[in-house]
Amino acid sequence: MQVQQSGADLLERPLLNKDTGFDEAERDIFGLRGLLPSRVATIDEQVCLELEHIRRKSDDLERFIGLSSLQDRNETLFYRVLLENLEEFMPIVYTPTVGRACQSFSHILRRPRGLWITPADRDRIPDLLRNARPDSFASGVGVDDVRLIVATDNERILGLGDQGAGGMGIPVGKLSLYTAGAGIYPSHTLPVSLDVGTDNEDLLADPAYVGYRQRRLRGAEYDDFLEAFVAAILDVCPRAILQWEDFKQHNAIRILDRYRHRITSFNDDIQGTGAVVLAGILAAVRAVGRPLAEQRFVFLGAGAAGTGIARLVRAALMADGLDAASAKRAIVTVDTKGLVFADRDPLDDDKREFALSGEELASYGFAALRPAARLDLAAVVAAVKPTMLIGTSGVPGAFTEVAIREMAAHAERPVVFPLSNPTAKTEAVPADILAWTDGRALIATGSPFESVNVGGTDHVIGQANNVFIFPGMGLGAIVAEAREITDEMFLLAARTLAGMVSPERLAVGALYPAVSELRQVSREIAAKVVCQSRDCGVGRLYRDDEVFDAVDSAMWYPDYLPYRPAS
Ligand code: NAD
Repeated sequence: MQVQQSGADLLERPLLNKDTGFDEAERDIFGLRGLLPSRVATIDEQVCLELEHIRRKSDDLERFIGLSSLQDRNETLFYRVLLENLEEFMPIVYTPTVGRACQSFSHILRRPRGLWITPADRDRIPDLLRNARPDSFASGVGVDDVRLIVATDNERILGLGDQGAGGMGIPVGKLSLYTAGAGIYPSHTLPVSLDVGTDNEDLLADPAYVGYRQRRLRGAEYDDFLEAFVAAILDVCPRAILQWEDFKQHNAIRILDRYRHRITSFNDDIQGTGAVVLAGILAAVRAVGRPLAEQRFVFLGAGAAGTGIARLVRAALMADGLDAASAKRAIVTVDTKGLVFADRDPLDDDKREFALSGEELASYGFAALRPAARLDLAAVVAAVKPTMLIGTSGVPGAFTEVAIREMAAHAERPVVFPLSNPTAKTEAVPADILAWTDGRALIATGSPFESVNVGGTDHVIGQANNVFIFPGMGLGAIVAEAREITDEMFLLAARTLAGMVSPERLAVGALYPAVSELRQVSREIAAKVVCQSRDCGVGRLYRDDEVFDAVDSAMWYPDYLPYRPAS
């Protein structure tokens, strides 16, 4: 690899730095003599030392800080450590620990990463993009080479609500997983905080708060700001794919719908979640041995995640032969005000898509409901008799014992997904769900949980982690140079993922592959996305036999390359 920098400058570039990994010749050529201790270490030796440092810490937030510092110092080593220990460190660099990091962001911030854009920057966003973290870009790579942007407006960080500037932890963490999980080269990625202010009173009152200390931008001004942001990306980084991240329900859905045909973009909370949860559902269908078309779904939480999952489940039901009316009827949603039905008052526009009509209500045996009727989860479960229950409410304990026992009374293998994050927000813990269903439930959770032993049998709790989808989706879209990311791509990704759960894992109740299989999963999904992009006319025209080579050559494996000076 040709490298322009030398001396201290080289050591300060996280993507070029090798620390003690620079060999004798490189130390001579690049003016590093005297700047490093004498011993030349291999990357494997360095990994052992880093593990020693990180494991010595007594608290996960400290481990998060330690890993972030490593990322700021030596990115190759950071990714090697992460990739070789994904199961251990994914819950640190991402949910649940990243949630704590976002909450205490102003107090733990060392070196800011990514790009910060505030309403004061509205008319100079292209200039800001051109300023983007040049120190991390490897030689010869500039901002116009950015291929993947993750941007958040910080309003719905995991299940933790408005975290203001602290939300930046999410795009940073997510892009780390794109790199670890699919090998997308770090300097092709850019985390962005659309810091439009915060309505979080604690942050506004905190003297140490590092963000834009104003109330949130709303209405037309907010829309203009977003418009300026999208226009700037199209202008300055025209090859970038934009992933919308952790926007609040209403904005999440309408921004996706507004921009998905104008800029290659997707919303992971809606579409990525849809795909990963559908994959779990399809794996459960394999385990239960009854077709998808026979399943009945109750969703608790009808926000961005719930809507995304419901949309994709409906598409999958129709692809499996149900007509549109039957597919819609199979999906019942419940929100803060209870059962969602068309005549309910109040009813947000976002929720009309899955609101039950009078006819559908009658078919479930609900007597004519007054607009003010409030039917809770247990009442809905009793009438609808779901086989699958999906929680994205962000409300801990919302899957009550009554509701789960009711479900178990008529579903032989109740499929229960308490998906809210972080761990403290889960709708029910797996041990309780298994106890209330005599061990019959098939469970997937949003946050990681230990296996549960019931009557001597270990039930492995699969994590419906979007990480099984978004890295492969991003990689596939980059390789395909896709102009659009379609719903069919997410459907295919879900099917691919469900098909990769081994029979051995299914037998112990795990509905997802092991996290250690992530790169393999991403590779398969990326290849499917490349083919689908070609077939639906939105991507490059690869021949079938070229697809895996193209995907493989876009996957970076974190290792030190020998350096020579740029000529
Ligand atoms: P959101 O704010 O868009 O939606 C939350 C929804 O829950 C709203 O419709 C709200 O009306 C509803 N709700 C709130 N309290 C309720 C109650 N008591 N009963 C019923 N419904 C209630 O948020 P979102 O993006 O949809 O995310 C929701 C949760 O899902 C978060 O905790 C998030 O971490 C989790 N999530 C998990 C995954 C995953 O596991 N892969 C992916 C995305 C989101």
